[in-house]
Amino acid sequence: MSDIVEEIRQAYGRVGIALDRPATYGTYYRLLCAGCGKMVGNVGDRLLPDMAAALVERQFDLYATGLLGCGCGHQRQVTRGLDAPRWEAAQRRQGGTS
Ligand SMILES: [Zn+2]
Repeated sequence: MSDIVEEIRQAYGRVGIALDRPATYGTYYRLLCAGCGKMVGNVGDRLLPDMAAALVERQFDLYATGLLGCGCGHQRQVTRGLDAPRWEAAQRRQGGTS
C-alpha cells in the first residue's frame, strides 16, 4: 500500500470513514461508513501529500451537520468527539435545529 493511500485512509479515518479495497486497481477507493459499512463515496489516489487531510478538514462542518457522510449519523457522532466546540458552531450555523 502506497504512502498516499495510507494518508487518505488516516485522513478519512479521523471522521469515521473507512477506505475499502480499490474499486479500480490503484485509481479509486470506495469510502465506507465505519459505523454501518454503507458506501458513502469514492476517493481517487491521485492526491498530493497533505491534500487528503486538508480535504477532510474542510469538510468537517458538513460531516458535523450530517450534510456529508452516512445517514446513520456515524460521522456526525465522530466529529463531535473530535472537536466539540467546532461541532457546536457548525450546528448553530445550520440554524440550530436537529
Ligand atoms: Zn453509517
